[in-house]
Amino acid sequence: MLDIIIRQANLPDGQGPVDIAIQGDKIAEIAPRIDATAREEIDATGRLVCPPFTDPHFHMDATLSLGLPRMNVSGTLLEGIALWGELKPLLTPEAVIERALRYCDLAVSQGLLAIRSHVDVSTAPLVGVEALLEVRKQVAPYIDLQLVAFPQDGLYRAEKAEENLIRSLDMGVDVVGGIPHFERTMADGARSVTRLAEIAADRGLMLDLHCDESDDPMSRHVETLAYETTRLGLGGRVTASHVTAMHSYDNYYASKLIPLIAESGMNVVPNPLINITLQGRSDTYPRRRGLTRVPELRAAGVNVAFGQDCTMDPWYSLGSADMLEVAHMGVHAVPMTSREAMDWAFTSVTQNGAKAMGLPDPTIRPGGPASMVVLQAKDPIEAVRMKATRLAVLKHGKVLSRTAPRLATLSLPGRPETLDPADYAPVSAENPT
Ligand SMILES: [Zn+2]
Repeated sequence: MLDIIIRQANLPDGQGPVDIAIQGDKIAEIAPRIDATAREEIDATGRLVCPPFTDPHFHMDATLSLGLPRMNVSGTLLEGIALWGELKPLLTPEAVIERALRYCDLAVSQGLLAIRSHVDVSTAPLVGVEALLEVRKQVAPYIDLQLVAFPQDGLYRAEKAEENLIRSLDMGVDVVGGIPHFERTMADGARSVTRLAEIAADRGLMLDLHCDESDDPMSRHVETLAYETTRLGLGGRVTASHVTAMHSYDNYYASKLIPLIAESGMNVVPNPLINITLQGRSDTYPRRRGLTRVPELRAAGVNVAFGQDCTMDPWYSLGSADMLEVAHMGVHAVPMTSREAMDWAFTSVTQNGAKAMGLPDPTIRPGGPASMVVLQAKDPIEAVRMKATRLAVLKHGKVLSRTAPRLATLSLPGRPETLDPADYAPVSAENPT
């Protein structure tokens, strides 16, 4: 007898309806009809079953701290960093752990099962590092949590940041981080990229920099990052996060830069919710959107994955661990509204995030991991459109979370009594798959 059969699911690549048989922590079989019994059956008729969502860019040491010790009044990145500086001395490991675990509960309910979180290492004591190493251990059965040693106040700008970064790597933090555009000078920024890339290369670690999160068209550290990635042969172990300044580069420079990024093999992680709200703040009008050049990077063959960045912290007072909300914002803010691009936006918060994080391919396939999400939507574009309800979330063959479908009961003369928002899927639109 099988453990679980999911009946009549649609898959993201357009296959379906299919039955998915789960034995232990693996997918045993996928077929149009599986005549076997299981301890548990999940009816997914007309619903999409997809790999778990991934968030390759988050700040779990700051999450759910909104209002502590005050609100960000200007809404800018720089006031957010200043506010975080006020909050840091007040942090206790217990409070950081409790907020992070609460966030992880929310993430699981949203089908978000892989998160890369930056953790501030610029000042001792390393409260966030200690707390999130504990959280990583506690959530390991259900969330792949990667930690990035992030010198928020600058590797060279903050005293002893490099020493603290090295110490946090020694303590077990997974990834080397940095913030070149926040160093005192462009030269220091470039120097920090080289130094951090060498630390990652020496230790065999991944590298993920907040890179050119700025409206400044002269902020060009991603060029150095691409160079160092190629020079040191780091390839897909490297991620350039944000790169919002690329929005403001002149087209000629961008046309030289993007092939260098593609050649290096690095990943790019834009964060649409945060980029659209934090960038362009010093503009009058027209006001820049601040999203990096997603279509051009995709066309060059770069792995682009959307990240969430923040939920209810000094930089962003909204957020809900919902990577479909992130994809939805990406579609709008880039903008990229073709059927093909919207379908890609879904992939950017599933497979592409896993690739950027160096995780195994999460595609739903025979022999693949029995980790998946059942959505109240028939296909990926519908899932993005509705930010669809996660009906069931499975990891390693275990159901971790269930949510009742969103159904309305109407009292309208001559109209239906119940309404399922998923029934509004277009019948005529052609999907790219
Ligand atoms: Zn960030």
